[in-house]
Order: sequence, then C-alpha cells, then structure tokens
Amino acid sequence: MRIDLHTHSNVSDGTQSPAEVIDSASGTGLDVVALTDHDTTAGWDEAAAAARHHRIALVRGIEISCQHQGVSVHLLGYLLDPDAPGLLEELERSRESRVSRAQRIVELLSRDLPLTWDDVLKQVEPGATIGRPHIADAMVAKAIVTSRGMAFQDYLYDGSRYYVSHYAPDPVSAVRLVVAAGGVAVMAHPFAGIRGRVVADTVIEAMAEAGMAGLEVHHRDHDPAGVRHGLDLAASLDLMVTGSSDYHGAGKVNRLGENTTDPSVLQRIEELARGVGVLRT
Ligand code: AMP
Ligand code: ZN
Ligand code: FE
Ligand code: FE
Repeated sequence: MRIDLHTHSNVSDGTQSPAEVIDSASGTGLDVVALTDHDTTAGWDEAAAAARHHRIALVRGIEISCQHQGVSVHLLGYLLDPDAPGLLEELERSRESRVSRAQRIVELLSRDLPLTWDDVLKQVEPGATIGRPHIADAMVAKAIVTSRGMAFQDYLYDGSRYYVSHYAPDPVSAVRLVVAAGGVAVMAHPFAGIRGRVVADTVIEAMAEAGMAGLEVHHRDHDPAGVRHGLDLAASLDLMVTGSSDYHGAGKVNRLGENTTDPSVLQRIEELARGVGVLRT
C-alpha cells in the first residue's frame, strides 16, 4: 500500500491539472494520493472524477499558508468541510493578498529585469492560487532564468530584495479552523530550513495543543538531523508521522511517492476526520 499525502496541481502552483496529477499518481503505482493545493480546494472535483476513473483512492486536502512572526508555516488539512465558514473567509483573504503581493514583487523585479505583470498572468490558470512559482515560470518564459529553481535561487528566495510577504493566518488559528471544519491538521515540512527560516518547537507545541494531529517528518527538504528531531518531537507530543512527496509536476524535482505514509497513519486520519471521507472506488 503506497500512500502520498501531499501534491499540488495547477489550481495552485503545480504544473499539471488535478486530473493529470491523479493520472500520474496512478501511473507510478500509488494506491492513495492526496491533492493539497495552496489555500484552495478548487481542484477537488476534477481530482475526484479522475480518481474514480483510475481506481485510486483520493484524500481531499489543502495546504494552508500561515505566518508566525514573519516566518512562513505550511499547514496540511485533510478531509475537511471545504465550505466551513471561518476557514473559507481566511483562505479567500490569503488568496486575495497573494495577488497584490505578486504584483508588488513583479513591480520590484521590473525595475531590473524585462518582466511585466502580463507575463506572469500568462502562467496562471484562471482562479488558481498565485505564488512565486508563477513569477518564476514567467522569468523562464522570458529567458531570464532557465528553471523555477534558478529563479528562486537568484531572485525569489525568502529575504531577497524582491521578496514581499502576503497575508496569512497564524498557524495556531489555522489549526483551530481546520479542526472546526472537521479536518485533520498536519504540519508540512516543519524543518525545511533550506528554504527559509522555520519556527521554534514551542510554536509546534502550541499547534499540537490547538488540536494538530501530525507532523510531515519524511520530506525531501529535511536533512537526517531534521528527520530525527521530527520523530522525537512527534513522539513527545503524541503526534502522527507522515511522509509525502510535495509533488509539483515539472515545477520541482520532487517525484510522486518518493516519501510515503504508513497505512495505519492514514487509517487514524480517517478516524479523526468529520468533514469529508476518503474517496475509494
Ligand atoms: P509562495 O507560496 O508564493 O510563497 O511560494 C512558495 C512556493 O514556492 C512553495 O510551494 C514551494 O513549493 C515553491 N518553491 C520554493 N522554493 C522553490 C524552488 N527552489 N524551486 C521550485 N519551487 C520552489
Ligand atoms: Zn507549492
Ligand atoms: Fe509547503
Ligand atoms: Fe506543498
């Protein structure tokens, strides 16, 4: 049983449609896949139809952008009610703020580089959650850089002179909103220090106290010490341990199923969830 609980489609910053992500997941032999686009559940229906077609089980999820004292935190929410009030408004507020923030980043970049807002819009599916990867794609299209990775390395990294943040809820309130929506909250890549600053363990403890159920310990952005620390922290806070790919199609090197989650953990997630069920055929 191979279970991957973290993937992105072009409903946020992945490069494949939700149906294509499911198609790829089925093709690599996964039994269960979660679609967890940034700050949106808009891909769920398309993914569900594709999952039925391919006879693969689908966990409907989301990855919520959060911020704690200027540090970015990502929270995975599984099997939540997508229409739960509170959560819905918070996600809308984040997505809206992402648009003005991306415009501001492009404005800063355009002082030094031949890049316009129109270039970026060409890279975004209508209604998708916009993020830095779309700006990176526009920079590739304009031959300013050769890949998303290079765009992040040279221009878009956290703390760059072109970096602008966007509105995002505090991680503790995001945990509460996921739980109130009947979902199961798991902190994404808690120790991914290579991509920017990470929060202290005290913040993770507060998230656990607010009802968070797990830590995504097995993730490519964790070094061996991060994995060991994650396992220790999960044990001491009585949190589940997940592992996932964080697949973004061609947008990142992450391959589907490169990290997986134990079936007993998925079973526990299902038992805790009161929003929507796992789709099985
Ligand atoms: P944003 O949501 O706009 O702050 O952008 C963060 C997103 O950019 C995350 O989903 C990451 O997957 C993606 N990202 C961060 N660093 C890189 C990188 N080096 N290459 C490709 N994608 C990246
Ligand atoms: Zn992403
Ligand atoms: Fe993330
Ligand atoms: Fe992600």
